[in-house]
Amino acid sequence: MAVADFEPVIGLEVHAQLLTRSKIFCGCSTQFGAPPNTQVCPVCLGLPGALPALNSGAVEMAIKAGKAFGCRIAERSIWARKNYFYPDLPKGYQISQYELPICSGGAVPVPGLGRIGLERIHLEEDAGKNIHAEGGSEVDLNRSGVPLIEIVGKPELRSAEEASEYLKALRLSLIYLGINDGNLEEGSFRCDANVSVRRKGESKLGTRVELKNINSFRFVRQAIEYEIARQVELIEGGGKVLQETRLFDNEKGVTRAMRSKEEAHDYRYFPEPDLPPLLVSRELLDSVTVPKLPQEVVEALTAAGVSAADARTIVGDPRLVEVHRRIGGDAKRAALFVVGELARAVNEKEADLGALKFDPALVPAVWKLQDSGAISSTAAKEVLAELIRTGEAPEKIVERKGLAQVSDTAALEVVVDAVIARTPAEVEKYKAGKTNLLGFFVGQAMKELKGKGNPGALNALFKKKLG
Ligand SMILES: [Zn+2]
Repeated sequence: MAVADFEPVIGLEVHAQLLTRSKIFCGCSTQFGAPPNTQVCPVCLGLPGALPALNSGAVEMAIKAGKAFGCRIAERSIWARKNYFYPDLPKGYQISQYELPICSGGAVPVPGLGRIGLERIHLEEDAGKNIHAEGGSEVDLNRSGVPLIEIVGKPELRSAEEASEYLKALRLSLIYLGINDGNLEEGSFRCDANVSVRRKGESKLGTRVELKNINSFRFVRQAIEYEIARQVELIEGGGKVLQETRLFDNEKGVTRAMRSKEEAHDYRYFPEPDLPPLLVSRELLDSVTVPKLPQEVVEALTAAGVSAADARTIVGDPRLVEVHRRIGGDAKRAALFVVGELARAVNEKEADLGALKFDPALVPAVWKLQDSGAISSTAAKEVLAELIRTGEAPEKIVERKGLAQVSDTAALEVVVDAVIARTPAEVEKYKAGKTNLLGFFVGQAMKELKGKGNPGALNALFKKKLG
């Protein structure tokens, strides 16, 4: 098998649940985790005669995504019925957009890959959820009618790694836009991958297979890698790739045929008669504001002196960006605190980014104590750790833990004299030229001062006294 002779062609379709409080065509709650079938009404149950009414919040969020990725936003788009039968779809059709989507074109900026093109972004309603358990299958329609955008990427990705990077960038962008929570496990960010392979140098696309049911970044890589190898092996063995939908089995790490892939005409799309065309006025378009995307925040941080690696780490979690912003002052020093002391505390479960116990604006007060010599750099680390843990004012922590550094020359001199008096042999050697004994003297003094002596001041004092 020679995977190297082939070029994979990958395009991703992402379904992202919009963070509206109510569903797209009715007032039912979108809250995750409620008991089954408690957030339903005649509209989202698809009862005869119930009429959908559009949630304008969902439209604004779709526009926000479209503006952020540079899509063309249609002044007029239409709703379509996508007909299929499935137990989690009581109406027998899903309201989606087909011929005229709200957004088309545009691109997602992906670190290291440039911009990956988009075909379109359209609005649609989610279906319910089948729950297969022992003894039978059940259906929960709480998710039925939850607003989604489907983000259809162009087949511009060439490896499983690129696909994973694209997904990560897209997910983070949607979180920054405040329109999706990026939760793969709860299914609010779902990905299907279209994968085909062709011999290198060929321009015609191979037969594509659609992979479904991929709910983590690791599985995205595994599923695509498996599928590329499977298709290459099939072609090299003289076989043909069938156009089909395959499910990824994350326990066995393989993909399995689920059904032959539907063509668009299988869905018998037609305009939704119960909803008027979706009109986007100039005023609405202008009223939707777009915050900075992750890549722009990385650029702003590096311009302020933060290292590229630290900037990427911070931008990976919008809560860290917020902490960094609230610390203020020296951007680089604040970044070092965020990726250092704070990250460590979070790892050790001493801090929760969702419920911080301290005011980040107090961090510069610790730096001030350190820079003035009132506390040592070691003590500063301890104060920061304690600040994160308790939220107590830095001065109070210094006092309570007795961390104040002795910089007072008179007080230090007493100790320095005592050390010199009781170590005559070392003093002799030092005076004979063994000047690296300076560290030994400072160490002795520090011991006596229980680590609270100002090392700079001690150094200077010993040098002066020993000549
Ligand atoms: Zn409802």
